[in-house]
Amino acid sequence: MNKNKRFYIAVDLEGVACTIGTPGQGLAQGSAGLEYAALQGTKEANAAAKAHFDNGAEEVWVWDCHGTGYNLKYDLLDKRCKIVMGAGSGKRFPGIEEGFAGVLFIGYHAYDTIDAVLCHVYSSATFQHQKINGEFVGEAQIDGAVAGKYGVPVIFASSDDICISQMNASFPWAETVITKRSLAWNSCVSDHPETVCANIYTGVKKAAYNLDKMLTFTYEQNFEYEIRYKRIEPAQGCHYRNPDGTLFARPDAYTRVGVLKDIEDIFK
Ligand SMILES: [Zn+2]
Repeated sequence: MNKNKRFYIAVDLEGVACTIGTPGQGLAQGSAGLEYAALQGTKEANAAAKAHFDNGAEEVWVWDCHGTGYNLKYDLLDKRCKIVMGAGSGKRFPGIEEGFAGVLFIGYHAYDTIDAVLCHVYSSATFQHQKINGEFVGEAQIDGAVAGKYGVPVIFASSDDICISQMNASFPWAETVITKRSLAWNSCVSDHPETVCANIYTGVKKAAYNLDKMLTFTYEQNFEYEIRYKRIEPAQGCHYRNPDGTLFARPDAYTRVGVLKDIEDIFK
């Protein structure tokens, strides 16, 4: 299998068209709008997959990565896709070490920022923010660095305008599509869902033509990692340890900070 013809599409749901979640719940299991977001996320992922296959891709993996990884309407995906799903492996981009030409982010969301739709980092119930080397990071930056560790660049992202501005700062080479304009945590002005799918198809084709311009995004080993929790108990019980074996420092009741050797240590 030619590595240059394999692509990995990570599909979260908060950033897809016409999706704003429920106050107090976001897009948790049972929340209003999750069903719709799962259908639209499937269509947006499919638009990206189709663009790659129409461009001669040999293999496209679609990773259902929202919540417990069981959301998308699998029957509606292009039959040639491989589908990565479920939770519990402790891996971001399971199987990425097998070699891919690029990763794509569909439906990702901003890290905690004023007025960004459904912004959070991995769990809106658990964390206030996360920082690497003193700078705020979100799922796109951490997942992008996991892909980068295996030499795979972020080549495309689609999401709300604030998430895309954060992505552009981290991955200025990547092609991007704005699905909606953020107004508040549960409010936006969305483009029409079919227009968004058409824009994703065109954007992914462009990204594939510009593969030679794509760069990998990484953090040096032994980076500083800071997590601020929403409640005191998880900060108290935080198990992260520095390379010398000491527990992360606790500058205040809610925050832990220390050094991790490898980006994937965040998930251990
Ligand atoms: Zn999600």
